[in-house]
Amino acid sequence: MRIAIIGAGPAAVGLLDALARAGADAGVGVGVGAEHEVTVFDPAPYPWRGRPYAPDMDSVLVNVPPALMSLRHDDGGHYADWLGERGAGFFDPLLGAPLVPRGRYGEYLEETAEKALAGGNVRLVPERVVGASRDLLIRTADGHEHRADRIVLCVGSGTPADPYGLDGAPGYIGDPYPLARTLEDVPRDASVLIIGSRLTAVDVAVSLAARGHGGPISLASRGGMLPHVWQRPNGPDGYRPQFLTTDAVRAMGPDVTLAKIYDLLCAELDALGEDIAEIEADLRGAATEDPAVRLRRQVELVNTPAQARRLLQQACHTVMPLAWPLLPEADRETLRRHSRLAVSLASPMVPVNGVRMLELFESGQLDSLSGVRSIVGAASGFEVGWDGGTRRADIVVNAVNPPPGSVPHAAVELVDGLLREGLAARHPDGGIVPSDPRVHVVGDLHGGRPFLTSGIPEVVGAAARTARALTREWAAPSLTRA
Ligand SMILES: Cc1cc2nc3c(=O)[nH]c(=O)nc-3n(C[C@H](O)[C@H](O)[C@H](O)COP(=O)(O)OP(=O)(O)OC[C@H]3O[C@@H](n4cnc5c(N)ncnc54)[C@H](O)[C@@H]3O)c2cc1C
Repeated sequence: MRIAIIGAGPAAVGLLDALARAGADAGVGVGVGAEHEVTVFDPAPYPWRGRPYAPDMDSVLVNVPPALMSLRHDDGGHYADWLGERGAGFFDPLLGAPLVPRGRYGEYLEETAEKALAGGNVRLVPERVVGASRDLLIRTADGHEHRADRIVLCVGSGTPADPYGLDGAPGYIGDPYPLARTLEDVPRDASVLIIGSRLTAVDVAVSLAARGHGGPISLASRGGMLPHVWQRPNGPDGYRPQFLTTDAVRAMGPDVTLAKIYDLLCAELDALGEDIAEIEADLRGAATEDPAVRLRRQVELVNTPAQARRLLQQACHTVMPLAWPLLPEADRETLRRHSRLAVSLASPMVPVNGVRMLELFESGQLDSLSGVRSIVGAASGFEVGWDGGTRRADIVVNAVNPPPGSVPHAAVELVDGLLREGLAARHPDGGIVPSDPRVHVVGDLHGGRPFLTSGIPEVVGAAARTARALTREWAAPSLTRA
């Protein structure tokens, strides 16, 4: 079987690793034996590292502890084992776990991919895919064609859009990564406006600070809500949910509702002796509370024994993706209305960044502008219109990532082609779904997912499911040539 993987980020590496292991188990696999071959396409200068994990400043950190960064969905220790003794050098006392720069994590991605490549039946074509025909003839931007029997899209969600039409304006940084390059020419005393207030905005602010930036920094967003701050994760023997579990949601099947999930959370907190009213009151304040005040409290709560927020964060990545497609539309709409809060809960900042952001707020160097209406190029720099009036900025950095389900710029022609050829269909909630059994979609482009960006566990979980589907076909050779 000729498998074409389009995109060489973490999804592709997880898939290659799962295929290589399945092949080794069956004695036929990718990398051993000539029967199956895999071609991976990606023009990125650092293949295997995807969008987030290219070499960059040391201030650009992974956002989660090692157990959640493993490329093997069935082996949570795979990344920690790779890190080995090096982990001690990155130990973060606030998180209680190693926290490496994302560029370092990229080395793990590279090495895992290289192992899968070593067998010889996997090759990388450093080209962008621009189309695929009904008989799976893949076209790359250099005009070449490649025949495949199966296609797996692993294209991620791409780079930021240009919400204020500023592309090309002097002083505008449309895509902040790698920050080592994009911040290089920012004068130390410049006033910098960062569009967005999520994790990428945090990366930009703490990286400016790490470079010794002295000028004012503003976060410009609609609501001004920052990501929550990670609470130190429970250790391996720590608390595991008893009620708010995927098994409980599976048991509900199509009868799942938000009210029933809420009941599971209540049962969980009751068993722990925690009062749900406390977390509810805290979350109710998220949209209106002063971001610095909220941040200070969250930094103080990093070690709290209370489980409520940890449970909610975990549920966003476990229970929610399972329940989402089954929930009544009215419940999905309720969740969409609270999407900013859900995203800030699901993807918190690491405590060390919480502390850095707090220092910046408290020193007066950083502030948050909410209700931003316009950002326009001025004679020199930019003018920002927001609820509090107008503001000037020398530099504007766009830190708004496309939502899951977005088609990356680099994959627009390809996706249009797949839709035209009837190989995939748009999902009403965004993203696409395969409409041909020879096509697979792994990662945030897959339609029918909630609005939360997938972390590594979800991406590699989906990659492993795709690997299983492909290897099942290895056992049924008649299916391999369409
Ligand atoms: C800034 C940032 C930081 C993050 N940090 C974390 C973190 O610390 N922990 C975590 O768990 N998750 C994190 N995430 C979530 C992240 O989505 C996943 O970790 C992961 O990168 C998703 O992998 P992917 O392979 O699906 O997509 P990507 O990483 O986006 O990779 C997609 C690849 O496809 C290629 N591609 C696109 N179109 C084409 C085409 N037409 N032809 C060929 N190639 C193409 C691109 O060049 C790219 O290399 C982060 C996300 C972002 C944006």
